[in-house]
Formats: sequence, structure tokens, C-alpha cells
Amino acid sequence: MSQAKSIDHVIKALPKLQSRYNIFAHLEPSTKILQRYNDIQKNQPNSTLAGTISAIKDNIVTQDSNTTCASQMLKEYKSPFTATIVKLLSNAGTTIVGKTNMDEFAMGSLGIHSCYGPTINPSRAFFANDDMGKREMVTGGSSSGSAAAVSATIDGDNIIDFALGTDTGGSVRLPASYCSVLGFKGSYGRISRYGVVSFAQSLDTVGIFAKDLPILRGVFDVLNKYDRKDPTSLNDLLRNEIIELSDKCLHRLQNPLRIGIVQEFNQESVDKDIKSAFHDFIGQLMEKGYTVVPISIPSIKYSLPIYYTLAPSEAVSNLSRYDGIRFGTRDPNEDVNNEAFFSKTRSNFGTEVRNRLILGNYNLSSSFAHNNYIQAQKLRVNLINEFDFMFKFPNVLTRNKANVGDDNGIDFIISPTSLNKPTFVRRAMSDKIATDEYFNDIFTIPASLAGLPTMTIPIRGNEPIGIQIMGQYGDDQGVLDFTSTLM
Ligand code: GLN
Repeated sequence: MSQAKSIDHVIKALPKLQSRYNIFAHLEPSTKILQRYNDIQKNQPNSTLAGTISAIKDNIVTQDSNTTCASQMLKEYKSPFTATIVKLLSNAGTTIVGKTNMDEFAMGSLGIHSCYGPTINPSRAFFANDDMGKREMVTGGSSSGSAAAVSATIDGDNIIDFALGTDTGGSVRLPASYCSVLGFKGSYGRISRYGVVSFAQSLDTVGIFAKDLPILRGVFDVLNKYDRKDPTSLNDLLRNEIIELSDKCLHRLQNPLRIGIVQEFNQESVDKDIKSAFHDFIGQLMEKGYTVVPISIPSIKYSLPIYYTLAPSEAVSNLSRYDGIRFGTRDPNEDVNNEAFFSKTRSNFGTEVRNRLILGNYNLSSSFAHNNYIQAQKLRVNLINEFDFMFKFPNVLTRNKANVGDDNGIDFIISPTSLNKPTFVRRAMSDKIATDEYFNDIFTIPASLAGLPTMTIPIRGNEPIGIQIMGQYGDDQGVLDFTSTLM
């Protein structure tokens, strides 16, 4: 999978990527990049990812460089171990050139809540002829740097072949769509989270950005492994069962695929260009012989409230470890004798993280937990069941009856990826209330709540417009295969 580009060109281009678009939280020194690249060429030239250049989000831990989650809280943090996925990538021969900018602790949809400042969208839709212009647009978040890294070109060349991000409620798919690249998040538990800093652990997944589908698939194949160090990793028994089920579903190749369009996604507020691109896309599917059917998943309308109840609640628990004793930098003048306790240390969190902590504590507090947290869990189960009864492919976790061989079942669901197109960085940063940012997750969050494998593909060239393809839980290969018929 070697990419024909010179490493000298890459090394010269990296500082430009940084100064133009603020892509990296940390960039490896040139000498280290060169040495690593040459070592691979010499010792493992035939490994799967040899010759590729990559970057990883700064909430994925690495032993030899800081992992900051773009937070003042972890500015000096270095992990004592390296994430499983980084080891797998390194063994497969890629050269990782840096850790990418992001919304702090992966909370956000715009790529503006970072202690390093916002990432700028490098899409040629905004920077015609690579001129900097005045039109600095957001990349989308929270994996903002990873999306921008893959999207950006220098002198017309791609520099980064692929990048890893994390997707809890859309943080791979949304920036991929805003930056006109492919973004894929696997089924929950497919890719190891050992060494991925938790935001909301029942939703967190790792995702892959690339411009080129074969590269994305190659990276997925490398990462698609059971990891005994991650208690939520999908075990081998279930992985094998899914492979057998996929073989049984081969009838999908003979019959026209049935593609579902969710009625509840038909939102007034979708941007008109996105709407028209989506309609064109449906037309193209029909021309290709696919059967497009309207479907109803009523619980989808509760997705945003479910997510913004559960995710902040889990975040409260995960972020409690940043007390300056276990993790985070403790202020030397503060100690437990001071009435402030951890407040000085905890004020190292940025505004958006603080908002989420307040929300999460509210949702979990004894008088509200039953109506909020418990209710959201029940609604999440209803949503998963409704998805299950739509798909032909059975869900190996819930064991709900599937529509295998049933003419009514569907193979995949499509929708736009985002409600709107990227806005100006300056405008986004001056908005005090983030509700628009929350609404923009409307299409991405349902698949996160149900743990479904989902891809976003750019459908209007360099325009920041993406279409999302969702498959049943476990049907990652199906989503990737279907995507390949659309490229
Ligand atoms: N935008 C969502 C949030 O801020 C999703 C974030 C994510 O996927 N990491 O919670």
C-alpha cells in the first residue's frame, strides 16, 4: 500500500500544514520521522501499511510523546503505555508523524474547543488555489485535526494518507463530511479502546479518516482485532459468528440491496444544498438498481436527549480522575486543607467540558436520575430494538429476531451526515451557547447509541457535504463493501 511520495516532501510539508491549519497538538521531529520511514523501507517494506504517513488524535495514548486531549489539564501528561491501536499500526509499517488537534476531551462538534486554538478547514471549497484568504471555516469536531490532516494538500499533494479519530456521537463522521473525506467508525467494540482516553465509554469508538477507500480498508483490517485488554472488545466467538452470518447474507449480492431512508430524519432545517445533494444521491442509487424504501424508526426523535443525558453522565465519572492527584496538574498552592479542594485544579478544564460536567452531575443527582438517566437508558434500548427490526442482518448482541430472507428487511440506511455546512471559525467562537453545535449531531448520534458501523462519504467533490451509510451492528464489512460500489 505504499504511496508514491517522497519523505523529504512530507517533512517539508508538515510545518506548512501546521501553520496554515493548526492540525497538530504535537508534531514529531523531522529526524525521527525520517529515521522511522527509512527503517520501514529497509526492514519491512512489504508490510500492509509500509510507506504510508499517518497521524492520530491526541486522546490516544503514546509512551514517547505527550497525550493532552487538547486540555490544559493534561498539558504535561505522558502515558506509561502505548494504545493497542498505535502498536498495531506501527507493526503494520506506517509512519505516524504526530498527534492531532481536537475538541477538549472529544467534547464538541466544531473543532474550536481546544487549548491549542481552532483547527482550520483546509478543504479546497474554501481555499481555492491554496490561498489563505479570509474565509477560515471550521473543520467540524471533535476529531478536527485528523480530518484536516487527511484533507489538506500542499502543492497539490496529499501528505497524510490516513488518520485515526474517535467517534462518540459523530466526531469522525462530522469532520470527515466538513472536510470532504471518508470517515468510518466501526461497530462498538470492533476496534480496541485500550489506551483511548474515555469520554463516554458506552459510546466511544475509534474511527478512520482517509481519502482513498482501499487505504481506509487496509487500516481497518489492521485494527479489526479482539483485544483482551479492552473489556468491551468484541470477542472472537462473536467475530466468527458475524463472519458466518455475512457469508449467509451473500444473497445480498444477487438481490438488489434494499436501502432505507428514515422518515424521522426528514428535517425542515437541513441545509438546502445538502438536501438537494441527498436527493440526487437517492436518484443515483435507484439508477444503479438499488431498491430505496422509506422506513420509520420512531425513537430516533429522542436520540439527542438520550445522548446528551447519557454522554455527560458517563463523562462525569470518567473525568473525576483529573483531580491533580491521580491525573492532571495540581496547583502547588492548593491542598486538601484549603476549602477549595480540587477547584483550582479542576478549573483547568475549558468551558465546554465544564458545561458537560454540570449537565452530567445534574442528570445523575438523586432527585433527577430516575427521570433522566434511567429514562434515557430505557429509550436507548427501544431505539436499538427498532433498528434491529429493520435490518436483515441479525444483531449478535441483542439476539432480536432479524428479517433475514424477509423481503421487508433492509440492508443499509442512508442519511445526510450533517444538518448544515461549516460556519466561519470566528462566528462559531463568538457563539456563547452551543445548542446549534448539539443539534448538528442529529444524524450521527442514533448510530452511536446503537453501536452501528457507519461510513460518511463526500458526494459533491470538494463541497463539505457527506452522506452517511449505516449498517447493522457487526456488519462493518457490509458497510465497507457497499461503500465501494458507490465510489
Ligand atoms: N458532538 C458530540 C459531543 O460533543 C460528539 C462528540 C464525539 O463524538 N466525540 O458530545
